[in-house]
Amino acid sequence: MFFRDVIGQKTLVKRLIRQTSDNRISHAQLFLGTADTGALPLAVAYARFIHCTGRQTDDACGKCLSCIKYDKLGHPDIHHFFPSAPNDEFKKDVSSKLFTDKWRSLILENPYFTYYQWLRKLGVENKQAIISAEDCNDIIRQLGRKSFESPYRIVLVYMIEKLFHSAAPKLLKVLEEPPPNTVFLLVSENKDRILNTILSRTQIIKMPFPQEQEVLDALIHKYGLPADKAKQISFLSGGSITEALRLSRQDEEHMADFESFREWMRHCFRNDAAKILKWVEITSKGGREKQKSFLLYGLKVFRMCMLSNYKLHSLVRLEGEEHKFIQGFAPFVNHKNTLQIVGAFNEAITHLERNANPRILFTDLSFDVVRLLHVKT
Ligand SMILES: [Zn+2]
Repeated sequence: MFFRDVIGQKTLVKRLIRQTSDNRISHAQLFLGTADTGALPLAVAYARFIHCTGRQTDDACGKCLSCIKYDKLGHPDIHHFFPSAPNDEFKKDVSSKLFTDKWRSLILENPYFTYYQWLRKLGVENKQAIISAEDCNDIIRQLGRKSFESPYRIVLVYMIEKLFHSAAPKLLKVLEEPPPNTVFLLVSENKDRILNTILSRTQIIKMPFPQEQEVLDALIHKYGLPADKAKQISFLSGGSITEALRLSRQDEEHMADFESFREWMRHCFRNDAAKILKWVEITSKGGREKQKSFLLYGLKVFRMCMLSNYKLHSLVRLEGEEHKFIQGFAPFVNHKNTLQIVGAFNEAITHLERNANPRILFTDLSFDVVRLLHVKT
C-alpha cells in the first residue's frame, strides 16, 4: 500500500508528507472515516512512508529494505492491532497476534474492506469482536522494547472504538506519555463510540469520501475493469468503492459459474464419462457455499431455458456468451425433463446443506442430468 494506491485524499496526503518531511509527526493520530473513505489504506500507506529510508517527494520509494518488508506487511517496527473474537481455530483467546496472518492477507488482497468483511475473514461474523486487554498488554510490551530498524515505532490500531472499556486505562497511559519516536495511528469509523479520554489525546484526521470520478478511475486503472463495466458498477454502487468491489467480484464469480456450468452441460450432453468425472473432481474441491451457489446458478439457467422456450424473451435478462448458450441449450430443456432436473438440483442442494460428500453428490447429479437430457420429446 502506497499513497498512490489510496483513492482520492490528495490534500490529506500532501499534509502528511509535509509533516513527515518537517519531522513534525504527531504521536497519536486518528483517521476517522468509513471503509469507503480509505482510512485504513491511508494509515498503512502513511506508516510505509514514515518507515521508508528512500522517501520521494510524493511517496515511499518502493525499493529500500523497509519498503520491501512493507510489501508483505512484515516490517518489525509496525505493530497491528484490530478487533478479534474466538473462532473455530482459537476457541477461547482473543488477541490480535493470533490472527496476524489473516489480517495481513486481507489487507494485501484489498485494503478497501468493511468491518463486516474483516469479521467474515475471521469467521466470527455473528459475534462481537473486541480489542482486548491482552492486546493492550502487547502494545505496552512492544513499546518497552527498542525499535528494530527504524527510529520510529508505529502502533496501528484498526477500529479503536472496539477497545474493551476496562482495558482502556492501560492504553491511556502510553497514549499520554508515549516513549520517544512512537507513533500511534488509530483508525475509526465512529467517533461517538470512542472513549473521550482517548479522543482528547489524539489529533483527528477527518476523511472525506472520494469523488465518484476518483472511484471510477480507480476501478479502471487500479482494479483493471473495462471502462463500460466500471461505469455501470460505479453507478450501481453510488460511488462506494467497497460496494463497487463487491459487485465486481460477484460479476467475476457469476462468469466463473457460467463457464463451469456450460462445460459440465456439454460433457453431460455428449455423455462423456471421463470428462464428467474430471469436472466432478475439480468442482468437488471448492467450498460448500461455492458449490451451493453454483447449483443455484444452474437452477437459474434452467428457468431461463423455460422462459426462452415459451418465447418470453423479454424476461431472459442475459447478455453475451451466456445468452448465446441459453439459446442453444433451451431446446433440450423441455416439458418432459424440466421438473425432474429442477427436482434433482434442489435435492442436491438439500444434501449439500446436510454435509453430503460433494464428489458422490456431483457424480450422481451428473448422471441424472445425462439421462434426463436424453429423454425423447
Ligand atoms: Zn522505501
